[in-house]
Amino acid sequence: MTELLDAPNQPRELVDYNLFTSHPVLVEALAREGAGAAHEHLADCGARFGTAEMFALADAANRNPPVLKTLDRFGNRRDEVEFHPAWHELMRRLVAEGLHTGPWAHPTSGAHVARAAAYMLWAEIENGTQCPATMTYGAVPVLARQPNDFAEWLPRLLSREYDLRQLPISAKRGALIGMGMTEKQGGSDVRANTTRADAAGPSGPGREYRLNGHKWFFSAPMCDGFLVLAQAEGGLSCFFMPRLLPDGALNSFRLLRLKDKLGNRSNASSEVEFQDAYCVLVGGEGRGVPTILEMGVYTRLDNAIGSAGILHQCVAQAIHHCRYRRAFGRLLIDQPLMRNVLADLALESEAAIVLAMRLARAFDRQDDESEAALRRVLTPVAKYWICKRAPLVAAEAMEVLGGNGYVEEGPIARRYRETPLNSIWEGSGNVMCLDVLRALAREPQARDALADMLQKGRGGDARYNQYVGALLSQLADSSDAEARARRITENLALAVQAAILIEHGSPAAEAFIASRIASGAPGVFGTLPTGVNFQGLIVRALSP
Ligand SMILES: Cc1cc2nc3c(=O)[nH]c(=O)nc-3n(C[C@H](O)[C@H](O)[C@H](O)COP(=O)(O)OP(=O)(O)OC[C@H]3O[C@@H](n4cnc5c(N)ncnc54)[C@H](O)[C@@H]3O)c2cc1C
Repeated sequence: MTELLDAPNQPRELVDYNLFTSHPVLVEALAREGAGAAHEHLADCGARFGTAEMFALADAANRNPPVLKTLDRFGNRRDEVEFHPAWHELMRRLVAEGLHTGPWAHPTSGAHVARAAAYMLWAEIENGTQCPATMTYGAVPVLARQPNDFAEWLPRLLSREYDLRQLPISAKRGALIGMGMTEKQGGSDVRANTTRADAAGPSGPGREYRLNGHKWFFSAPMCDGFLVLAQAEGGLSCFFMPRLLPDGALNSFRLLRLKDKLGNRSNASSEVEFQDAYCVLVGGEGRGVPTILEMGVYTRLDNAIGSAGILHQCVAQAIHHCRYRRAFGRLLIDQPLMRNVLADLALESEAAIVLAMRLARAFDRQDDESEAALRRVLTPVAKYWICKRAPLVAAEAMEVLGGNGYVEEGPIARRYRETPLNSIWEGSGNVMCLDVLRALAREPQARDALADMLQKGRGGDARYNQYVGALLSQLADSSDAEARARRITENLALAVQAAILIEHGSPAAEAFIASRIASGAPGVFGTLPTGVNFQGLIVRALSP
């Protein structure tokens, strides 16, 4: 009997599948990095996050961007953002999963790694919701340094209830945190901030101040509180600013406009002004940068995790497409050149995932000095490299889907538009590379921890040994280091990725060394040497 098909030779949607169990690389990484006990939980997350309903919610939240309501119909200030119900449903599920603060609420062994894996799965589906979740994840350790000042806040931040009601913190069942650093005249160089903070009485941590000024980027403005940088008498300082005052009145900051963004459309990013806004000092006066950077370390980890997740979903969609689509008499997956493209994409995905997961392990070992030192340098390395590779992977995956790849209805376009963002915010590419140089120059322990890690890959492979030898000489040469910082960071990232693959005997190690270590800087995808087991790499990214 002839099949009646409207659209012959088109794949079915890649939905209703287990995002975790279908991804051997992530399954292995979870166990390897110390969170094997969370396997069942991750398998459960993988099934629940991979449903057609979740994909549809993500699409709806991004097709119906938030709307700013500055005034009510009588002209009273509202300063609220209205979201599509899909956004709230996604936020409800994300918070219920503990993806925002789970490791702080339950600091068990492997908690940050397990969360990293789950967060990566979430990143495959929706990314706007990850903005407030990530900022809350990073803010908790900062606020926890002043437990008495934030006694009402901390339990609500650790809660698994998404409470979108605009109420003072005492009446809420759950809460989320945003942050404000960037001003019109400077984002990377926050020392240029002009927003002023004046003590309302005695000064010092936990004391009341008043903020006057603005922030040019202020994402997720419906959060319940914000960490904000401003100039106090003692210098640039960090403040906690609640959205509502204890009596329920709006704090004195005004939402002026929402950004019209390339991607990340489900999430609101606003411009704000403060007029005598109430806030309290976090950390000491003049300690604004180190205080907010403590948050920044976690958000940068999440940038790496998030980009690895988006990148992997693009690769999975490309592989799936080729398993169903025929051209010139054969399935695309059986065309030798397409197999090379898919295998190369899968290899990039594997390298991103092992790096992000290894980095997450350094966050689980908070008391281990060598892991802390490694975290210091590996965080900007991973943030830089994984975020930089993501748009390239997304673009290639889009092409694998042919014309359908370029269409908004498909799975890649939104993800492609999302990919540059993680590279820009929370320390843009150059800023990350300069941070790598700073860590290596100022923290000998970080340099040692990195050298130890690279050493673990040394031994059998002469190409890797030579690469690392040259890299160490490159690091020892400080001439024109700033101008070379991107090359240094890229080489470090590739060496660390290779070291992890070699140390753990990944079947991807040989292809990685041949294509990224032995043959110069990585170029376009689909240029692996012909001896590589293409199929072996592909099934590690998406099992059939
Ligand atoms: C969607 C979105 C949401 C955001 N949300 C927030 C938010 O919630 N809160 C917040 O505070 N900010 C937020 N930001 C702002 C973001 O963090 C900044 O845009 C970013 O830090 C860069 O700052 P800038 O835009 O002022 O650029 P600049 O600081 O002017 O930098 C421009 C370029 O110069 C490079 N550069 C800077 N210094 C050097 C140097 N010394 N050497 C070489 N190159 C250098 C940078 O890498 C960058 O590429 C958001 C941005 C976006 C796009």
